[in-house]
Formats: sequence, C-alpha cells, structure tokens
Amino acid sequence: MARDTLTRSRSDQRRIVQKAARPPAGVDTADAHPFRHAEFVTTAVQWRDLPAGGAPEIAFAGRSNAGKSSALNALAQHAHLAFVSKTPGRTQHINFFRLRSGALLADLPGYGYAAVPAAMRRHWQTFVARYLSERTQLAGLVLTMDARHPLTELDRKMLDWFLPSGRPAHVLLTKADKLASSDQRAALKRVHEAIAAGYAIHASRIGVQLFSASRAIGIAEAETAIKTWLADDERIRGHNE
Ligand code: GDP
Repeated sequence: MARDTLTRSRSDQRRIVQKAARPPAGVDTADAHPFRHAEFVTTAVQWRDLPAGGAPEIAFAGRSNAGKSSALNALAQHAHLAFVSKTPGRTQHINFFRLRSGALLADLPGYGYAAVPAAMRRHWQTFVARYLSERTQLAGLVLTMDARHPLTELDRKMLDWFLPSGRPAHVLLTKADKLASSDQRAALKRVHEAIAAGYAIHASRIGVQLFSASRAIGIAEAETAIKTWLADDERIRGHNE
C-alpha cells in the first residue's frame, strides 16, 4: 500500500504556498463553491480501493507541474488540500476528497514526468485508463494544461480514454498570468480549434477556459462548469430511480 499523500513526511512534501484566491464577498455555500471545505477521504492504488457507494465523482488530472494542485487549492479555498511532491510523478494513486454536497473529488496522479520507472508508468496507464473509461460514478473530468503548452500527447490520451464514455470534460489552461492578454486569447482560440478539429463528435462536451491560481483568473467559471455537472448528474440519477 503506497503511503498516503497526506501523511507523508514533511520533507517529502511541499505545501502550495500561494494564497488561495478569495472570491468577492457574497454567498458562501456548498452550492456556490462546490470545492470549499473538501475533506480527505481515502487513497486508491488499484481498482478495489475505489470508494464504494454511488456518490458522483469529479476527476482532476493533468501533466505533472501543470498546476493541478494549485488549481485545486484555489478552488477549495484551502491552502493545503492537495500537496506537491518534491519528486513529481512518483505519486501514482488517486486521492479522494468529499465535497460538502456529498460528491467526491478524485485527484488523479500527475503524468508525463520523464523519470518515472516504466513499471510505474504502466500501472498508472492501466489504472487511470480504466478509471476514466469505466468508473460509473464519474460525472466529469477537469484537465489542467499549462496555457503555454496545451494538448500534449498524454493530455490527448486522457481525452481519448475518457470521452467515448459520453461524459463532459473541462480544460483549465493554467498559469494564464504568465501570458500577455493577447497571448491568452490566442492560446484559448488555438485549443478550441484543436479540439474542434481533433474531437469533433465530442467537442460540444468539452469546455476550455483560462485559469490562474495565483491571480484568481477563471475560478468562478470553473466552479460553474463543475456545478452544472453535479446538477446534471443529480437529474439523471433522479430520473433513473
Ligand atoms: P501540479 O504538479 O500539476 O500539481 O502543479 P503545481 O500546482 O504543483 O504547480 C507547479 C508549479 O507551477 C509550482 O511552482 C506552482 O507554484 C506553479 N503554478 C501553479 N499555478 C500557477 C499559476 O496560476 N501561476 C503561476 N505563475 N504559477 C503557477
């Protein structure tokens, strides 16, 4: 059993230090901010470890160092919901957090780190591919991609595994603050075009937006996408009961 991310020694972890972005004063409910007050539930190393019960799940995935942990922390308003390992790519398990609505957040292992041993990479590939394509509770996938280097080969693989299941994906183009606003718009346009060209039959289910954890860009937009998925999931479940 791999060690739980949240109990690893301090020397093996580096907490996200940037301040979680604060939304404007106003409503503070689970509905308005679905990730706020998320609590750690469990870690899954293999299929049989996945949480039982039918709670809908929102998965977060991304290339190692793309800014996934920072995005999660900004959305959760929690400075240390997700951790960053000093040895990126070594964490090959899925961490689950419970949201106040009862839904689960599944924090998938970062991918694309060159130094990961082949056997570990194979394990990641088999586990994550199966999780994305077969997990019935999965309501949607949020993919973090560095706005300066989007749609890498592995990002595309994630979409290839996930999209045939008919569920929605949402791309956060992270670290947008590192781009001038004209370059931000250009990056957004390029990714929209690439998705329309490469994933034509799925394109209507793929959202794309600019995001910055450090400058609080795109937080409300990401929350809206996730809230819509959870509401849709509830409607579908209600209908089938
Ligand atoms: P992860 O490996 O995908 O979880 O990525 P992290 O969230 O750990 O971020 C990787 C690096 O990018 C860290 O040095 C972060 O401080 C930095 N980073 C993350 N988000 C942002 C952002 O919005 N803006 C900037 N400028 N840097 C960021």
